[in-house]
Amino acid sequence: MSAREFLTNVVILSMVVQIFAGVVILDFSAGYLAHRALHFFPVLWRFHRVHHSDDFVDVTTTYRTHPVETVWRFLFVVVPVWMIGIPALAVVIQRLVGSQWHSGARQYPTLTLGRSGAVPCLGDAQCP
Ligand SMILES: [Zn+2]
Repeated sequence: MSAREFLTNVVILSMVVQIFAGVVILDFSAGYLAHRALHFFPVLWRFHRVHHSDDFVDVTTTYRTHPVETVWRFLFVVVPVWMIGIPALAVVIQRLVGSQWHSGARQYPTLTLGRSGAVPCLGDAQCP
């Protein structure tokens, strides 16, 4: 392996690590911390309950947000990007993966109970 090939591999590997770490950091910041705060602080919950008021949870639920929540979450993306220098591709990947968060909601058993309260509701077909 030539020195040029070695350096190319190091740069590519470094970029892959930066993108992966960036996705993890953004998921923690915008996905977890921002969401926890939206539930914890009553003033933020007033805006976030728009998202939780969706009767039919699917991929569109991700985009059912109050504009204030959108700005709130945006701050939890921009600040880490600005402070750490997270690559733009990490932001794109995290947003694409994050937007699919509710897409499998109808494919898995839910924690809700049927009308009787005794039988778990495993999806629309089984729900009374
Ligand atoms: Zn929530």
